[in-house]
Amino acid sequence: MSTIVVDTTHSPHARQRPVPITAVTLTDEFWSPRLRINRQVTLPAQYRLLQETGRLDNLRRASGKKQTNFTGYFFNDTDVYKWLEAVAWALATEPDPALEQMADSAIVEIADAQRPDGYLNSFYALDKANERWTNLRDMHELYCAGHLFQAAIAHARATGSDRMLNIARRFADHIYATFGPESEGKRPGVCGHPEVEMALVELARQTGESRYLEQARYFIDARGHHLIGGKEYHQDHVPLREMDRMVGHAVRAAYLNAGAADLYAETGDAALRAALERMWRNLTQRQMYVTGGIGSRYEGEALGADYELPNTRAYTETCAAIALVMWAWRMLVLDGDASYADVMETALYNGVLSGISLDGLSYFYENPLADDGQHRRTPWHECACCPPNIARMLASLPGYYYSTDEEGIYVHLYAEGSARIALPDGRTIGVTQRTRYPWLGQVSLELDAESDLSLFLRIPGWCEAPTTLEINGTPYPTQLTPGSYVAIWRTWHKGDTVQLSLPMPVRRVQAHPYALENNGRVALMRGPLVYCVEGADNLGLDLRDLVLPSNAEINTSFLSDLLGGVVTLSFDGQLASPDAEWTGRLYRTAHPTLAPMTNHIRVTAIPYYAWANRQPGPTQVWLRHSA
Ligand SMILES: [Zn+2]
Repeated sequence: MSTIVVDTTHSPHARQRPVPITAVTLTDEFWSPRLRINRQVTLPAQYRLLQETGRLDNLRRASGKKQTNFTGYFFNDTDVYKWLEAVAWALATEPDPALEQMADSAIVEIADAQRPDGYLNSFYALDKANERWTNLRDMHELYCAGHLFQAAIAHARATGSDRMLNIARRFADHIYATFGPESEGKRPGVCGHPEVEMALVELARQTGESRYLEQARYFIDARGHHLIGGKEYHQDHVPLREMDRMVGHAVRAAYLNAGAADLYAETGDAALRAALERMWRNLTQRQMYVTGGIGSRYEGEALGADYELPNTRAYTETCAAIALVMWAWRMLVLDGDASYADVMETALYNGVLSGISLDGLSYFYENPLADDGQHRRTPWHECACCPPNIARMLASLPGYYYSTDEEGIYVHLYAEGSARIALPDGRTIGVTQRTRYPWLGQVSLELDAESDLSLFLRIPGWCEAPTTLEINGTPYPTQLTPGSYVAIWRTWHKGDTVQLSLPMPVRRVQAHPYALENNGRVALMRGPLVYCVEGADNLGLDLRDLVLPSNAEINTSFLSDLLGGVVTLSFDGQLASPDAEWTGRLYRTAHPTLAPMTNHIRVTAIPYYAWANRQPGPTQVWLRHSA
């Protein structure tokens, strides 16, 4: 049984093949402690919350084991499923009897709540049983099914057990029998919350059952024909193949595109891919935050207009950044375009990771880029989509590091650790990475190989400073282009070592001038990390007055006892407070006076993902920049 997250091994239109998460061991100082906290702290805590908040009781109620009212949102089953998926990936990499037991008891409740015809949703139980499928637009039954399928696939791949998979298949068969073209005697319909599409494609990959792929294709094709009202919010305004930009609810839009990319990998439908590429371009060139967060609007949890990127009011739901990673990966494996890996990395280190506290016990729903100190993580949300979503992302992370094609091995992400990578031709190659990434950009890769092979190393798009590449100490003569993979073809011998140096100077990053709120501002980035200035390091500093002088030298230092160990940035900033004439007024006739600058003040910036882990205070990513 192979613990592959997105299994494109046999997908005819995906050139790259995935590597099972069990083949990759992360031993780095950045992610591996987070994966350990996820397994040891986050997942057990979430199980308790699933119990305490009635999410498991809802299933017990549906099976008649418990006389109680349904509690919470009608889609609360998904939190159980996402948690179970996370547990499955976590168990794949390390056995944990306590977690296994929790998973087993959740599976019992899920199994017992399934109806004889395969239907499964705890909200539509008992007195509501005859209201099933009456409101596809709003009631998320297919969305819930999608998460069930993904949990089942992960569980089957991680444990070899088909207990969950059989539940999923019975439900998928029920859905297949129910929804489809009228000409086939079925009921037309799509879900208001896309998700089931990618789950159905993966279920087809897992089971070999082509009907599930057919069902995914039906749901993608039927969308946009106003079966659920034709709103942009539900991505039902036009057929997906006609879309030029992403609109509406950000998580739904990105899940839909992930599902469409999965469908493309199986079918090679050119119009589908062209639409996905158009949407990708518009998203990443006009709608995405520097953190990889997406979704600018609280209203409708929605993607914004082009260049509409408010900072304090950034919605940037954790789930949306996760969905972006999922979509990016699916585009990446089609033919290895590094721009997808760049966005995936940005989102992982910034917009996704800020969603969880360093102790693994509290979560952001929104991940704004500026705040006055009031936006804090909480141990759970009433709508708890994000907490188990980030848990499954972290648990499956090792699966995103490498892939293969006929020519060799692709290295997408860098972290200390090792991998045993099976090539399509049957060879297995050991790869060892030694690096302190993301704190330092030196990466040493050792290949355990005695054969011809191409090694494709990602040169990140952020890596503008001269990059160097050596093999066994000798410079490798090739062009190293940021935002691409460098191909190293050679006959390898055991112990051959590749030294890649990705310089990480601090970069002052500008936003497009049409992103008005960031005019005259810069964000600080180093390597893949976006930085922010937070009150806890800069007591009493009014960040609204802070100016980063263009000639300020920015120093870096690794502080092992701060925020789990981070590289901080520090610089001499200046304060430009409003002059006395502003007292008591909000507006005045403009006149060309410059705000007086105070003396220099020492300012510290920390990685954005680590903000709001100490005492509350103001936080800002985009800093005023003196010309
Ligand atoms: Zn969420």
